[in-house]
Amino acid sequence: MAFEELLADPVIQKYLHELVGPQGMPVAAAPHDGEVTDEELAEQLDLELNTVRRALFILYENDLAQYRRLRDEDSGWLTYLWTFEYESIPENLEAEMRRLRVALKERREYELTHEFYLCDQCSIRFEFSEAMEFGFECPECDTKLDALENQRLVQTMDRRIGELDEELPPTPEELQ
Ligand SMILES: [Zn+2]
Repeated sequence: MAFEELLADPVIQKYLHELVGPQGMPVAAAPHDGEVTDEELAEQLDLELNTVRRALFILYENDLAQYRRLRDEDSGWLTYLWTFEYESIPENLEAEMRRLRVALKERREYELTHEFYLCDQCSIRFEFSEAMEFGFECPECDTKLDALENQRLVQTMDRRIGELDEELPPTPEELQ
């Protein structure tokens, strides 16, 4: 897939931004076709060499860039030649969404199977057992704790899970 096509996707832009941060974004958002050195990138993008290197190593750790080292025969100096490899971005994103969906479902289950109490002075939430331990009074300010409805929260999670279900292709297990 062409870089331009990938980078036109706001979800992918956000993903890259979260990985490399605002400082590294010029590096991540302008991936070279073919090999490039960190010095060349720093010059082209008018960035500190360290900023460029930091962004490149983050991309490398996420399998979005590779490098090979060249040693100059005379000076012994090492040059790093970088290649951007964004093909795995859609796959990485999908894996991340799957992890998010699992976490949301676990959290939803927790919300549905527990009772909660709230101190509306301190906005602290307590599980039923904790609230009982404190005699249903806030340990911070002694205000009486109120039972807390978490249906709204569960509804929000349901909606997000539904969205993820729509976005994510089913796994082989799910198709069986
Ligand atoms: Zn309180």
